[in-house]
Amino acid sequence: AAQPAAGYLAGLNPEQRQAVEATDGPVLVLAGAGTGKTRVLTTRIGHLISTSRAYPSQILAVTFTNKAAREMKERVAHLVGPVAEGMPWLGTFHSISAKLLRRHAELLDLRSDFTILDTDDQIRLMKQVIQAENIDEKRWPGRMLAGFIDSWKNRGLAPKDVPAGEAAVFAHGKGGKLYAAYQERLKALNAVDFGDLLLHCLTLFRDYPDVLQTYHDRFRYILVDEYQDTNTAQYLWLRLLAQGRRNICCVGDDDQSIYGWRGAEVDNILRFEHDFPGATVIRLERNYRSTGHILATASKLIARNEGRLGKTLRTEDALGEKVTITGAWDSQEEARLISDEIEAMQAKGQDLGQVAVLVRISAQMREIEERFVQAGVPYRVIGGPRFYERAEIRDALAYLRCVVSATDDLAFERIVNVPKRGLGDATVQLLHNHARATGFSLMQSARAAVESDELKPKARTALRELVDAFGRWSTRAEHMPQGELAELVLEESGYTEMWKKDRSADAAGRLENLKELVRSLDEFPDLPSFLEHVSLVMDVADGEAEARASIMTLHAAKGLEFDTVFLPGWEEGLFPNQRALDESGRAGLEEERRLAHVGLTRARKKLKLYFASNRRIHGLWQTSLPSRFIDELPEEHVEVEQAASSYSQGGYGASRFDRMESFGSSYNTPGWQRAQENRAKNSGGGSGFSESGRGFGQGGFGNSSRQRGPLMIEGE
Ligand code: ATP
Ligand code: MG
Repeated sequence: AAQPAAGYLAGLNPEQRQAVEATDGPVLVLAGAGTGKTRVLTTRIGHLISTSRAYPSQILAVTFTNKAAREMKERVAHLVGPVAEGMPWLGTFHSISAKLLRRHAELLDLRSDFTILDTDDQIRLMKQVIQAENIDEKRWPGRMLAGFIDSWKNRGLAPKDVPAGEAAVFAHGKGGKLYAAYQERLKALNAVDFGDLLLHCLTLFRDYPDVLQTYHDRFRYILVDEYQDTNTAQYLWLRLLAQGRRNICCVGDDDQSIYGWRGAEVDNILRFEHDFPGATVIRLERNYRSTGHILATASKLIARNEGRLGKTLRTEDALGEKVTITGAWDSQEEARLISDEIEAMQAKGQDLGQVAVLVRISAQMREIEERFVQAGVPYRVIGGPRFYERAEIRDALAYLRCVVSATDDLAFERIVNVPKRGLGDATVQLLHNHARATGFSLMQSARAAVESDELKPKARTALRELVDAFGRWSTRAEHMPQGELAELVLEESGYTEMWKKDRSADAAGRLENLKELVRSLDEFPDLPSFLEHVSLVMDVADGEAEARASIMTLHAAKGLEFDTVFLPGWEEGLFPNQRALDESGRAGLEEERRLAHVGLTRARKKLKLYFASNRRIHGLWQTSLPSRFIDELPEEHVEVEQAASSYSQGGYGASRFDRMESFGSSYNTPGWQRAQENRAKNSGGGSGFSESGRGFGQGGFGNSSRQRGPLMIEGE
């Protein structure tokens, strides 16, 4: 083609252009937020395709979220046209690994239709494994084991690789044995958990060099976004795949490493130069995203961290508006202040799609959501399998999984007696025994059981109704649109009815969620692809272009940008999060600060921070002090806002005013001293074990914001 290059290269600065054009050999782009790292990757893909260096199918590109993968595909399509549609290997580590595993499942003792377990299933299975060993589940909970196993998997360790010392820490030396037993159970169920997606790929690549060779041949170019948040397993995965051609380009920012608690290793940045000697390292210094005040505020905050690789950031944009800090009496007022601001923007006709509220933990969302609902502010919640983790959604999904597969035992067990239909533990136990003896699944055993006289008549009738219904639904699944089918299943099973009869406060919300689920189903070609999507998602897909404000966790906001960003909850204990401080001391504080830095750098033009003096978290009111991070912001770039709310607050107004006037000095209160003492204690303390095994004991569980990647997944 005649010089298509000029077009897409023209908009880049010289360093960006160098990063795009250095196609062969290892390249590391190490640069701060908003400097165009993702843009470089996207352009690089376009460049590889349009200069015929590779077909789209020969490019492996790893993003941190599914949403980022979709956006990247769209942007590449914008550069090179619809050929970009043929990029089957653009996705998250997990989605790409799932795809690889389905192709080679038999080499790993799996069938290609294996199930991907979520956290809940995973923990249920752990419990079974722990009980089978006669270990006290109260003393050694499944969650804790799950945390250990996850962190081993993040480090690429199969049961046989776990160092004896570490295996010993759970249940008096049984950790390793339980890990092995858990893996056995997974295989028997034809299932994998998230960590396995990576781990099994490592086994595949190591044990079958010929398979690895085919991927060396296929993947001419490898690209990785958000490289600073790769964990060891992901790093090894990349290294194995990149060994072939060594055309690997990673982009990242050590100041945005925020998944240490889930095993991410910033040191992978340093390892890269070691493992790929002669790598070209490119630094980008111009920030194209944020105005001057915002960038200065973010830079000043992160400068407090030690152990940075160090970098310069500059912008040629105007200073713009100062960053604002507003104190609220309580978290409800905070939600109201944010909502009022957004309503005002809405009234001026501003695009709400360019507005985001970023929270530290997902429990902060509810009050904000509720206020938005009251005020009629259109919003969406992004990030994390939050929606899909709700109990009612998980039940509904379990029904659908059983419709699709008669061998999904975990799903069957979840709903066999939900709603209650007289199929209690005794019945389930009998099905288990049968399944074990015959090698059948629970559903198949149920079919057999209703033909025998092993069950009491009542249970038998109930079970017969259930298996008949599943038979019927599976048949209908072949013809009926999946949304309609889901509705039918939920109706006929009595599930919807159960919530309609429920008198608890949240029943209505649950029914609303179920409706939302049914609605979302029709966005997928069929039920299996929907279920696959659900097991992989970390962000709720939303095809609607309707302008809505976004609410998400800071973790989920990585890589994104918005004109206006609201950051509520800048309070000690919440942000920095006490748990991170308790568990990882100084390292935890630095990770929290990086998270704050990620939040600040999401904003293009307008950045508003909030703290509340009283907050309800998980139903309990607590008083709180403004975050130390607020104190660390540069005075000349921030402005303390007088609460602008027009309604009278009575006594609240005054106390809020005091608070704001003195937010810099109010730290000398006894509470603050206590917090400081705690901090001193924490930074020195921490056992060597929890320091080295970052994420141990936390592992994403119990922390309500599990976004996978990563979870990202996680988020992760
Ligand atoms: P983060 O670290 O937050 O992921 P990033 O380094 O990946 O940021 P991008 O998201 O790629 O940065 O870019 C930030 C913004 O700057 C985007 O809106 C992008 O389009 C814009 N941008 C990047 N490079 C240029 C350029 N050369 N000219 C104009 N705009 C640019
Ligand atoms: Mg980016």
